[in-house]
Amino acid sequence: MTDDTTPVNPAQADQVRAAVRESNQRLRAMAATTHVIDPDRFPRPRAYEFKITEQRRRKVTEVIRAAHPCRHIRTAGPRPVTVWLALEIATCAECDPLHKSPPSDHDDRCDWCHTHGYRTFTPVAIQAGVALVIGDACPACAAELGCPS
Ligand SMILES: [Zn+2]
Ligand SMILES: [Zn+2]
Repeated sequence: MTDDTTPVNPAQADQVRAAVRESNQRLRAMAATTHVIDPDRFPRPRAYEFKITEQRRRKVTEVIRAAHPCRHIRTAGPRPVTVWLALEIATCAECDPLHKSPPSDHDDRCDWCHTHGYRTFTPVAIQAGVALVIGDACPACAAELGCPS
């Protein structure tokens, strides 16, 4: 699937730019609404926006590559993509998994490193090119991603 490290076919550059813009708008909307709905859990809406370093880019790229893409992402042109780490899938807007929940034995699992045994997580949403990557991070991953709780 496409992330911001994949070379882009020039004919699709406009579509990619539009998809990146839309993912960024969704990220901003999500940051704003979660802060309003649940300020205790999301005290700082701006925590979602930070500079993506090389280390963070590698980690984000790795989890994006590990997600199973929906058929539209595999076969159709560039489009905004949401990567649901808890479900290990990447979907277009049409395929948003509204009613799916992760397996119950994943309750104590970090979505980013898949390590079990955690009780508290930091919800993290990161935009990388056309992709919006969403998952709960253990303290180590949250720190690595630059989103300390
Ligand atoms: Zn789809
Ligand atoms: Zn982790």
